[in-house]
Amino acid sequence: MRFIVIGANAAGMSAAMRIKRRRPECEVVVLEKTFEVSYGACGLPFYVAGLNDDLDLVRIRSAEEFEQSGIVMRLGHAVEQVDFASKTVTGHDDVGNAFFTSYDRLLIASGASARLLNVPGAQLRNIFTLKTPQDAEALRAAIERTRGNVVIVGGGAIGLELAEACLLQKVKSLRVIEATGQLLPGFDEEYALAALDELARYGAHVHLGERVAGFSGGEAVGRVATDKGEYDADVVIVSVGVVPNTAFAAGLDKLPNGAIVTDHAMKTSEQDVFAAGDCASVWHALLKKPVYLPLGTYANKQGRLAGDSVCGKPVSYTRALGSMMLRCMGLEFAKTGLTEREAKAAGMDAKSVMVRAHSHPHYYPDACEIAIKLCYRENDGVLLGAQLMGERETALRIDPIAVAIDRGMTAEELGFADFGYAPPFAGSWDAVAVAANAAK
Ligand SMILES: Cc1cc2nc3c(=O)[nH]c(=O)nc-3n(C[C@H](O)[C@H](O)[C@H](O)COP(=O)(O)OP(=O)(O)OC[C@H]3O[C@@H](n4cnc5c(N)ncnc54)[C@H](O)[C@@H]3O)c2cc1C
Repeated sequence: MRFIVIGANAAGMSAAMRIKRRRPECEVVVLEKTFEVSYGACGLPFYVAGLNDDLDLVRIRSAEEFEQSGIVMRLGHAVEQVDFASKTVTGHDDVGNAFFTSYDRLLIASGASARLLNVPGAQLRNIFTLKTPQDAEALRAAIERTRGNVVIVGGGAIGLELAEACLLQKVKSLRVIEATGQLLPGFDEEYALAALDELARYGAHVHLGERVAGFSGGEAVGRVATDKGEYDADVVIVSVGVVPNTAFAAGLDKLPNGAIVTDHAMKTSEQDVFAAGDCASVWHALLKKPVYLPLGTYANKQGRLAGDSVCGKPVSYTRALGSMMLRCMGLEFAKTGLTEREAKAAGMDAKSVMVRAHSHPHYYPDACEIAIKLCYRENDGVLLGAQLMGERETALRIDPIAVAIDRGMTAEELGFADFGYAPPFAGSWDAVAVAANAAK
């Protein structure tokens, strides 16, 4: 049996390793269009920030290590077409030679690319996106070379991590331009406003409801024009989301953004074809439908389970809640499940409560306030979502709430869960329990 995996990062290599472990006698071939394999993209903003000076630390395993496990790594091989009827994959390698290969089972793990802005001047030098270690290297070099005016387009989670990176790099000025009316789309207004205040506290300028219209300059960017103004820019970072890399997979069922629709076992609409990670949908536990959540957590889980699934083991992954966390300067943010607005848009009778509780008792040093907003079903109190923010000891508190939602618990059950207590860590009623017990 011959397994082909397209894409050699989180999803693809999790799957390839799993297949080789389960079926050592089978041929596992990975086709990867670049020469980069298995890296932690999530660590790149911290390299840009200068918190880590060794880019190799984000490289998790080398192609040679995978080869030693018996996996055939074909790097520099860009897949251009899959013919599902003849079970063949075609493309070109990095020196222009065509390749053609067949599969018994195919796993598509081709991820996503940074979304680009289709505006005049978008090709100018010093306009960056951040996806790969090479992107991070080039971006950090430009920031350190110019230490000038930086404009970040996009105020989502990665945009804010990059804002922190630029502030830590002490750039001359930082501007964040966001087309919607708030930072951190997906969070409620109180959280978005706190992020805005935090950036302002460090001297950054935030422009909401403003759209980039184009870039100008000489060879390199010099100015950013929007529908409301024009600003100096020595470096621009475009962080406006991602686009699934699925053009070569014509004929598969896809979401409107191009992500391949998968079922609970990562199977696609074609026989013997599976997909996982940022190129694919994931099943939302509360919305009960396939959604697009391009997060490393799902790439790893789906990849591992897809590896089992292609080998014929029954698997089911239906538990995505969109849990995520980030830090921007002195504030941590985290979210899981749905906000009240999202739940109501999905037809649920949702209600929410917000409390501000302390991370630990005030008599122990460095206690901080954590703002916790819980969303729950009005009729029975079953938890639907949570948003958290605070200076410290905050983000990881999303995890017990994610588990509670995963298990279908009510706010009352979470409020009386047996959390530990000692003054350096928590109060006798932990902040999460305080919030849960406030839900009526
Ligand atoms: C800056 C940044 C920060 C992030 N931070 C977080 C975080 O804190 N938490 C979190 O959960 N997630 C985070 N993410 C998201 C996370 O990194 C991704 O979800 C994860 O990398 C997806 O892995 P993947 O294997 O599905 O896809 P990718 O990482 O996109 O890998 C796909 C691979 O397929 C290859 N490929 C594409 N097309 C072809 C083709 N036609 N032929 C052959 N090969 C092809 C690509 O070259 C690539 O190597 C972050 C992402 C970025 C960019």
